[in-house]
Formats: sequence, C-alpha cells, structure tokens
Amino acid sequence: MNTVAVPEPISEVQQFLNTSHKLLIGGKRVDAVSGETFAVTDPSSQKELCLVPKGGEEDINRAVQAARRAFEDGPWRKMTTSERGKLIWKFADLIEQRAEEFAQLETLDNGKPLSIARAADVPLTVDHFRYYAGLATKIHGETLDLSVPYAPGAEFLDYTRREPMGVVGQIIPWNFPLLMAAWKLGVALATGNCVILKPAEQTPLSALLLADLFQEAGLPEGVVNIVTGFGDAGSALSNHPDVDKIAFTGSTEVGHEIVKASAGNLKRVTVELGGKSPAIVFPDADLDLAAEGVAGAIFFNHGQCCAAGSRLMVHQNVYDELVERVAEKAKNIKVGPGMAPDTEMGPLVSIEQQDRVYGYIDSGRGEGAKVLAGGERYSGALGAGSYVQPTVFSGIHNKMKIVCEEIFGPVLVAAPFDDLDAIVAQANDSVFGLAASVWTKDINKAHKVAARLKAGTVWVNCHNIFDANAPFGGYKQSGYGREMSLHAVENYTQVKNVIVQLH
Ligand code: NAP
Ligand code: MG
Repeated sequence: MNTVAVPEPISEVQQFLNTSHKLLIGGKRVDAVSGETFAVTDPSSQKELCLVPKGGEEDINRAVQAARRAFEDGPWRKMTTSERGKLIWKFADLIEQRAEEFAQLETLDNGKPLSIARAADVPLTVDHFRYYAGLATKIHGETLDLSVPYAPGAEFLDYTRREPMGVVGQIIPWNFPLLMAAWKLGVALATGNCVILKPAEQTPLSALLLADLFQEAGLPEGVVNIVTGFGDAGSALSNHPDVDKIAFTGSTEVGHEIVKASAGNLKRVTVELGGKSPAIVFPDADLDLAAEGVAGAIFFNHGQCCAAGSRLMVHQNVYDELVERVAEKAKNIKVGPGMAPDTEMGPLVSIEQQDRVYGYIDSGRGEGAKVLAGGERYSGALGAGSYVQPTVFSGIHNKMKIVCEEIFGPVLVAAPFDDLDAIVAQANDSVFGLAASVWTKDINKAHKVAARLKAGTVWVNCHNIFDANAPFGGYKQSGYGREMSLHAVENYTQVKNVIVQLH
C-alpha cells in the first residue's frame, strides 16, 4: 500500500476522470467500434484512474476517412492562414485557462512531480501552440530565376508553393504526453494538415482533454482525430494506405517498424527515437554549475527523456570530486508521489518500465560496475508504485549494456577521460545521436567540440533546454526530421514548383 499523504486532485480533474471517455473522430465523441475499453492507472499507487476506449484498426480506418474528408472537402483548406493561426491561438488560450487541470492530469497519468508539470509541460505546451499560431501566416514559397539553355529568349516565371502533406498520423510516447502532442499538432495545424493522433496507452488522458478543447475552440470537424489504444492502433495507422505522412516519437525498435510500414504507399516519415546522450565535463568547467547541470540532465523527468544525459564523461582531474557530488545529489532527491508537494522525482510511468530499468541496474552490477548511489528496490510506503532510486554507476567499460543501451530511467553511467580527441570519439561511439552537452569555460573548446559531436542538439553549460524556436531531432538511429522551429515546417509541407512561360 502506498501510504504517503497525497492531496486530492481538484474537482475539475475528478469530474474529468469520472466522465465516460470517448474517441474524437470526425468531430464526434464516439466509443471504439469494438466497445472495448482499457484501464489507465496512477503509477504512484497502481490504482485505476479511469477507463478509456480501446481504439483498434476499424477506429483508425474511420479516423483516416474523417481526416481525408476534412482535408479534401471541409472548410479547413479554404481558411486563410490568419484564420488558422487565430484558431490555434485560441486553443492555446483554452489550455492556459485550464493549466492546473492539465498539470494534475499529467501528474496522475505519468507520475511526474506536479511542480514540473506546472513549470514545464503545460507552459511549454501553451507557448508551443502560440509559436505555431504565429507561424501559420509566415509560411511561403519563393520565386526563382530560370536560364533554360534550350529555350533561348523565352521568359519564365517560376514559383514554389508549400502545400500541406494531407492526412498525417501522429504516434506519441508517454514521457511528455501533453507536450509531445503539442510538438506534433502545432506544426501540423499551422501548415494546414489533418491529423489522427494516437497517444501512448499508458498516458492517454491529456490528449482526451485536448479533444474537448478542440471542439470548444471551433476547429472544423475531422481536422484533429484522437484515437486512444495500443500498439495495434499505431500499427494500423502507420500501415494505412490513405495516410500521407507519419510522425513518430518513441522507441528505436518501433521506429524501425514505422519506417518499414511506410513502404506500402511510400508515405513520408519522421521519427524521433531514443538516445544515449553524453555530458562531457572538462576540468575548466564551473563545477557547481556542472554538478547541478549533469545531475539534472539525467534525473529530470526521472531519466525518461529521450535527450537525457545518461553518459557522464568527466576529465580525470575533476572526476572524483564531480562524480561524488552528483552521487550525493542523487541520494538527496526526494522521491515520492507526483501529487505530493515536496516530491522532486515521482514513479516511472509503469511497472513494466520499472522492471526494465531495474533489469539494467542488475545487469550493470552483474557486469561489475560500481554503484555509487541508489540501485536498491524500494519497500514500505513507496513499494506499491513504480519507483526507481536515482542511480549512479562508475567503473564501467564501453561494452556494458548499461553503457550502450538506452535505459530510459534515472540511471547514470560515469567514466573519466584524459584526452580531448579520445573523448570526442567515445562520445560519438554510439548508434544514437540525439543530443550532447559540453561543460567548460573555454569558449574555443566548447565550439570546437560542439562541431565534432554527432548529435542533433549540443548544449553548452546547460542540458535539456527546449524551446519552440529551437529545432530538435536526431543524428544516426536517433531518427530523422526535426521537430519545433521553422525546420518542422519542411516535414509537414511538400514543395510544388509552378513554371509559367510568359508571352
Ligand atoms: P513505444 O513502444 O515505441 O511506444 C511509442 C508509441 O508507439 C506508443 O503510442 C505506442 O503505443 C506506439 N506503438 C507501439 N507499437 C507500435 C507499432 N508496432 N506501430 C505503431 N505504433 C506503435 O515506446 P514504449 O514501449 O512506450 O517505451 C519503450 C522504450 O521506448 C522506452 O524505454 C524508451 O527507450 C523509448 N522511448 C523513447 C521516447 C522518446 O521520447 N524518444 C519516449 C518513450 C519511450 P502503445 O503505447 O500502445 O505501446
Ligand atoms: Mg509500448
């Protein structure tokens, strides 16, 4: 039993949990065709929060049809970009008005501390929609000068148009359920696409509340469809012949499946996958800043962050001091239910994820790595939840599973280095390439190392800084395509070239 005292959620959240949840398809709230539902649980106690519809292939088919109709025949494409922008802005306002409800739902569903959901997930979501509301009116083509050597003397006008992809399937994970929905939906709507969103089975609740708000904001029916369900619903979406593009965030394993499924109709794909991001601390770093920063890099969101700084590389001159400070911080993190006001780290999202992470911790121990902090199972008050102790390993080598594979939990592996070239090579020695951070006061070293790292994002003297205007995505098997910023527009539009001969 979880006996830690936790405040009750506000009445709006309790009311939301008690409603009969429905899919959003073609502007209507409907049950799954099968009539089946599944339970959503609170990871801090494993108690059931509510039931949601278990959408499957038939529901995906209906949602794709609705999105196709909305795209081809609905009012969406006839709207001016200014009208589209206003709708997205209104939607952001509605989320902001219900910020506390979203924050509490996110905490109950995912387990993250309420303080984090309030400070990060919800405001970033609102800001993200506003960014794309503004961008809707700024997407444009270009005019081009032609030479056409075989048509001497002829005059041409050549211009490009950026047109929407059409029907887009978006499949998202459980680590930032609301924010991942925002990253996907904001740009898709700004560029005039119609969407089917499939949230993760562990965390469907904030997407269902978004569904209410889409209706309230007055989005035309079928422009956004939301189908809760399992991997088979995701698979039906990624295999569907009438889907023009899939945007996926999640595991590298499922990412491979998505890419294979796209071959059927050669749908466009963007995939944002796992990572094993290095945090490299040079001896001239501000060690207070670095200790705080590299601990945050791995322990933020319980390490369930695709960009988590899970490989710590510290120059040997400061290794013992820095790693000891990080281990101390790990031991002092207040772990508990996300709803408790003093909690700094909540449970992992599920028992399955807890087992997976403890499997890695056991494997690290088995392979001879040294545990500097954490690594034990919780009993007592936290025993019922899917908690994992913040854990720091040293004494590692490159072949260990805990060093090569993404753990997606609060587990750090630390190793010393003495040579800059060697450490750059080691940082790049991974199938992943999502992010990295460099900690130094030497600006020359910082920029030179940033240029050599094979990663989609390099942070200098910080980690896990995200902004709607900053592109995010992977090198290597961390995926392709970029989310956020102007760059995401490229993934949601196709370029049409129009060539006119002038007479
Ligand atoms: P996952 O299985 O890749 O799930 C991501 C999304 O894909 C979910 O909505 C999932 O639905 C759906 N899905 C599952 N199988 C599918 C298929 N065959 N075709 C299409 N969609 C499918 O990730 P997970 O199981 O939740 O987590 C496992 C690992 O993935 C983590 O430990 C971590 O390594 C990685 N991960 C990465 C990120 C990231 O941000 N890059 C986020 C979460 C997880 P269901 O929810 O029903 O499975
Ligand atoms: Mg899964």
